[in-house]
Amino acid sequence: IIIEGENLRKKLHNALLELKGNIRVFCRVRPLLPEDGVNAEPGVFSYPTALEVLGRGIDLMQNVQKHSFAFDKVFMPDASQEEVFVEISQLVQSALDGYKVCIFAYGQTGSGKTYTMMGRPGSPDQKGLIPRSLEQIFQTKQSLQQQGWKYDIQVSMLEIYNDSIRDLLSANRSFADIKSPANRSNRSCFSPASRSCSRTENSVAGKKYPIKHDANGNTVVSDLTIVNVHSSREVSNLLDQAAQSRSVGKTQMNEQSSRSHFVFTLQISGYNESTDQQVRGVLNLIDLAGSERLSRSGAIGDRLKETQAINKSLSSLSDVIFALARKEDHVPFRNSKLTYLLQPCLGGDSKTLMVVNVSPDPSSVVESLCSLRFAARVNACEIGIPQRQTNNISKILNSSLNF
Ligand code: ADP
Ligand code: MG
Repeated sequence: IIIEGENLRKKLHNALLELKGNIRVFCRVRPLLPEDGVNAEPGVFSYPTALEVLGRGIDLMQNVQKHSFAFDKVFMPDASQEEVFVEISQLVQSALDGYKVCIFAYGQTGSGKTYTMMGRPGSPDQKGLIPRSLEQIFQTKQSLQQQGWKYDIQVSMLEIYNDSIRDLLSANRSFADIKSPANRSNRSCFSPASRSCSRTENSVAGKKYPIKHDANGNTVVSDLTIVNVHSSREVSNLLDQAAQSRSVGKTQMNEQSSRSHFVFTLQISGYNESTDQQVRGVLNLIDLAGSERLSRSGAIGDRLKETQAINKSLSSLSDVIFALARKEDHVPFRNSKLTYLLQPCLGGDSKTLMVVNVSPDPSSVVESLCSLRFAARVNACEIGIPQRQTNNISKILNSSLNF
């Protein structure tokens, strides 16, 4: 039997998908931007097929090296937000069917994570995955009503900075900014602490937000604000507030939002009266902290601690996905707050998508290859680097990935 190259590739790809279970990895290369500098030139990446990225690295001896990576999907610089969303809309949909879903944006600062997740402010056609997911979910919710489905949707937004949780919708930060009275009445807090969550409580700074997993396998974060929502517009208002909360943190704590993980969570409970069916899905959309290495972030003092915390949580995330993909007995969820928080949404029959964002700017090539290496670890997707090429640059990449 002769199998043509393309068929073979497809077969291998399908076999790989089966092997990997519910973990997918996409790669998105952003376009060159004016701020990438005068020396910027395209061609750091090329795309031999829709599934492959060829990265051109330059080692310390100035030799050009080629690294080839395969992904479930590669988005070239001209891919629109719409095109990206088309590829994930089914995954978003599955949260309404009762699945637990995590979609991560990974990459160095400036690689396009926030653009991918949120889009460009003020440009409706460049909306990102979060607003598009919201629109889809509320539209589908509406149409499923005709089949007897009723859904309750709750939203929470938090950031993890230096392995501590901050509630981005906490009462004292955001109540004053809520325009709609409907939002106020819908605001509630999670779990037993809900009674103590009031507008007069102003002690958010000291809160620890302990994470627990309940008997049903759901994450419970004590004291975290949970808001019942009925429309994508309502959630958009909350997203604006969360953005404000993040920037307040920035001036108070001298940090940039790109140094923390942003976790947006929709909890979706559905009930069908006529069939007595019940579903409970979760959609987590996560804009991860910038993955740049210590040397790149110019880290000393607090900045060093910050970078170490980011590196530790990102490597914990890769360890967890790696262990899950290989169906290992022990999955080290407890090694970071991020993985412990997301534990119920990462294992079992939940679905994970990692969008690895890279910049085409040649000055970012080491960071970009680091990101691709990270993806390679969670996706087993680097193909054929000849041994003799794994010299200096690979050593740098490997050591920086081990953090
Ligand atoms: P990150 O969140 O990873 O730090 P951003 O999303 O803020 O990076 O992107 C950095 C800059 O690049 C922003 O000005 C953003 O608008 C722009 N950008 C990123 N991705 C794209 C894209 N696919 N198309 C156009 N502009 C993009
Ligand atoms: Mg960002």
